[in-house]
Amino acid sequence: MYNFLIIGAGLYGAVIAHEAIKRGKSVLVVDKRDHIGGNIYTHAVEGINVHQYGAHIFHTSDKSIWDYINSFAEFNNYVNSPIADYHGEIYNLPFNMNTFSKMWGIKTPDEAKAIIEKQRAEITGEPQNLEEQAISLVGWDIYEKLIKGYTEKQWGRSCTELPAFIIRRLPVRFTYDNNYFNDRYQGIPLGGYTAIIERMLKGAEIRLNTDYLGKKVEIDALAEKVVYTGQIDAYFGYKLGELEYRSVRFETEVLDTDNYQGNAVVNYTDRETPFTRIIEHKHFEFGTQPKTVISREYSASWKCGDEPYYPVNDEKNNALYEEYRKLAAQVSKVFFGGRLGEYKYYDMDVTIKSALALASKVLRLGEF
Ligand code: UDP
Repeated sequence: MYNFLIIGAGLYGAVIAHEAIKRGKSVLVVDKRDHIGGNIYTHAVEGINVHQYGAHIFHTSDKSIWDYINSFAEFNNYVNSPIADYHGEIYNLPFNMNTFSKMWGIKTPDEAKAIIEKQRAEITGEPQNLEEQAISLVGWDIYEKLIKGYTEKQWGRSCTELPAFIIRRLPVRFTYDNNYFNDRYQGIPLGGYTAIIERMLKGAEIRLNTDYLGKKVEIDALAEKVVYTGQIDAYFGYKLGELEYRSVRFETEVLDTDNYQGNAVVNYTDRETPFTRIIEHKHFEFGTQPKTVISREYSASWKCGDEPYYPVNDEKNNALYEEYRKLAAQVSKVFFGGRLGEYKYYDMDVTIKSALALASKVLRLGEF
């Protein structure tokens, strides 16, 4: 009998496992994939750490979380500064004076603000959807060239049907500063993310290639408490209906050149290019290898059997999630957590914070 059974060897599950082991608990971790790490899994190709399930750049403003993750790896000084390619026109991201200057041929913050003010004039009151929010933040031109096509490709629906909060993730600045994040701390772990998860899971028993939901009763019987980090709707056999997710298909290629695009992240913001972005992995670690590895990302609607990446947190799905959450609260000895277990668009720092909160709740409550 294990004290803890953790379903999912991703970041959330690994933090819980680590906290439990630290307090002398026995832990079994089960994952259906053939590797640990969940979606932050990285592996080396041509000496380059490839982010197999999409780029992960660690960033946080919370010093305690930064210290926590740094206790598992040393981080480099990578600063994310993606560029946008709109039909071959190149712009800096996030939306800042470099973007405005290129878009409008202007120089000063006052000039940029005046143009945005004019372009947003028709949006009055609180923005009701992503389109209104975007225009209100940066005006029509930037919405049309850098937001609309990208967002509609990524989410598979019109910007008028998407929640405003998605675009509020991105900074808008009236300085010449291409740092994608406002956070105090940022970087990529030397040696990749998988090594972090390995360290977190030290002392746990790990069973890979194991489909928990197919053998729930049998596997549950092995432990006193369960932390489930998979899809909450799948746990309940989708009995209230399917929550929507966006999936991503990656087309990864090794190229015989040392520098393909000169930047780790290039977003293709027009509607016509079928992929949303190209990641050139070596640039996350300032790689000097003779070859390079790139991944094109194609966004797709999720259907059973695909990998779920992004929860679609609109009103309809959030309401359905709320019903599942109520069901989950009634399942004794099982705790639900993480991006899929809580159906939330979590960044890595928030994932850790949320996992630490659950770990301390479960462990402190004297549940053992
Ligand atoms: N976004 C955009 N244009 C870009 C990059 C992002 O319109 O070039 C919007 C898009 O709606 C996206 C959101 O900003 O869903 C959040 O982007 P972020 O980079 O945070 O997404 P993630 O890294 O989580 O995929």
